[in-house]
Amino acid sequence: MGIDAGVTSLVTLSTGEKVANAGHERRDRERLARVQRALSRKAKGSANRAKARARVARVHGRIADRRRDHLHQLSTRIIRENQTVVVEDLAVRNMVRNRALARAISDASWSELRRMLEYKAGWYGREVIAVDRWYPSSKTCSFCGARVEVLPLTVREWACRCGVVHDRDVNAARNILAVGLTVSACGDGVRPPRS
Ligand SMILES: [Zn+2]
Repeated sequence: MGIDAGVTSLVTLSTGEKVANAGHERRDRERLARVQRALSRKAKGSANRAKARARVARVHGRIADRRRDHLHQLSTRIIRENQTVVVEDLAVRNMVRNRALARAISDASWSELRRMLEYKAGWYGREVIAVDRWYPSSKTCSFCGARVEVLPLTVREWACRCGVVHDRDVNAARNILAVGLTVSACGDGVRPPRS
């Protein structure tokens, strides 16, 4: 299975499935902002400040627990159902150029999911392959192999000249899978030239 780290969803799978972030995430974040504001209004050293600080810690803890539960369920399912899992090797430094994307990816806890996939693969005797992040997985047609030159992040769906209409993320996940299986077969890393 190929996995594309999401912008609009947590991850998109090469099967076409899109997995959303844990529910409540937005509401939790709003609540967190509220208790943090309340904390900042309390006088330093006061008993109320200590209480407010404890409240912030509780909200933080609950958000982290939910997110982790969600990632555990997802990673266990993916590893159980697949012998080979291919992920894109996303480097954080490549992401900071686009802050919205960086935020989406950190929100999505992508690195935590990947860590879980890797150690669970060890438990179940599965293989996790990371493919080079320079591979133009979004811009290559997973059906005919043609490549489009430009594909802005806002474009979520595109039509290849071969006639196939792609969901951007599903197409990327399929390409990631294809590259990963090649890597697996050759026992060697694939490093296409940087454009
Ligand atoms: Zn095509």
